[in-house]
Amino acid sequence: MHNKTIAQISRDLAAGEYSSVEITQHLLDRIAQQDSTYNAFITVTAEQALAQAKAADENRAAGNASVWTGVPMAHKDVFCTNGVLTTCGSKMLSNFVAPYDATVVSNFNNAGAVSLGKLNMDEFAMGSSNENSFFGPVKNPWNHDCVPGGSSGGSAAAVAARLVPGATATDTGGSIRQPASFCGVTGIKPTYGRVSRWGMIAYASSLDQGGAIARSSEDAAMMLNVMASFDPKDSTCVDQAVPDYTANLNDSVEGLTIGLPKEYFRDDLSAEMQQQIRDAVAEYEKMGAKVKEISLPNTHLAIPSYYVIAPAECSANLSRMDGVRFGHRCEDPKDINDLYKRSRGEGFGEEVKRRIMVGAYTLSAGFYDAYYKQAQQVRRLVKNDFVAAFKDVDVIMGPTAPSPAFKAGEKTSDPVAMYLEDIFTIALNLAGLPGMSIPCGQINGLPVGLQLIGNYFNESRLLNLGHQFQQATDWHLKTPAGLV
Ligand code: GLN
Repeated sequence: MHNKTIAQISRDLAAGEYSSVEITQHLLDRIAQQDSTYNAFITVTAEQALAQAKAADENRAAGNASVWTGVPMAHKDVFCTNGVLTTCGSKMLSNFVAPYDATVVSNFNNAGAVSLGKLNMDEFAMGSSNENSFFGPVKNPWNHDCVPGGSSGGSAAAVAARLVPGATATDTGGSIRQPASFCGVTGIKPTYGRVSRWGMIAYASSLDQGGAIARSSEDAAMMLNVMASFDPKDSTCVDQAVPDYTANLNDSVEGLTIGLPKEYFRDDLSAEMQQQIRDAVAEYEKMGAKVKEISLPNTHLAIPSYYVIAPAECSANLSRMDGVRFGHRCEDPKDINDLYKRSRGEGFGEEVKRRIMVGAYTLSAGFYDAYYKQAQQVRRLVKNDFVAAFKDVDVIMGPTAPSPAFKAGEKTSDPVAMYLEDIFTIALNLAGLPGMSIPCGQINGLPVGLQLIGNYFNESRLLNLGHQFQQATDWHLKTPAGLV
């Protein structure tokens, strides 16, 4: 049962093959038996999940079922869940029980889905390897010595290990796409403003976007149908009708033009990686798509500008964690300054502190113009590259990450090496564009992801391209060796 996709489970429940309580219990048992290996879950909400499943079965019996009724999934622990521990992977929030549901969580609850719990992540979504979690690192199901990617490593690992068929995730600079690539699963980061950020704990507000990780494009489309909504509680949420993302999965890709940015295929990308990506693109050519070389000349400026903007926004967002209102509070503070300093000093991990310090510096009087303002101007150049490119092409393709999953510990002492992981993903967040990663090959038994970049609000096209690739190939069906 755990090998079934969201679409299959939805059909099986409708056909009465098994009940929601049965599949929910099966997955909860599997998590109990296997998650000590992966550490993908921070909290398992077994009791609540079974209650939701029972309610779903009753609704179905009463004739009130929709496609999501009784289908299990899980949430990245960045989304607030009413009455349930919401940690964001941090000691700072290790005692925080959210008093309300994020809009994304309410959307799934209203659709009748069953949430199995909360998934591990890099602390406050800062990281590319899931080694920055207060709750310990997550293992990559394909090779337990390797990282699952980050920051949504728990979401990607749980889906790859068949602990859950789909999971919510967030992407500020690549945190949906890079772990999806490392774990051989499908991940979509929608256009900025497509999915509400209300109740999604903020890292860098102008870049953060919620999205989905699942095993197929069809499942990702089903998830996005629930996640995407206009939400007046998020002022950057865009008031635009949500299409049915499953409606165009079978559209032909004939005649579409795929842009391949020459900056994504430079010599420092291994010949093997280049070959895998070109082979994947060739599949689309077989289907009648055309390929055109393009240039995104400001690609090299994306990481430097991100690592000014994201820390600046994080230093502002994380100032609310002060030991006063919620979260970790130090023992016996002498006075208010001591309370702030020790609560924050004890509550935040090393990477989070590093970014708060960088952000506070670049926003300070005297440095603001030199750093933050300039980074915002550079951001516009990065965006303009894409705007120009999309005049000539329908979609842009390239690698999701520069390599397959790397070994745990390999980059922990070198923050810049870790930051370079996002070289192909970060520009989309700066521009606000939608992007997707689908498994398209393997190197030494580890999955490789193809990144698909779409124009604004063109998620349907990305999902369609992902689905067509998955109809023609079986990379998304491969399972990690030894998985039982
Ligand atoms: N790796 C990037 C960072 O550490 C992106 C993380 C993310 O997308 N949340 O900021």
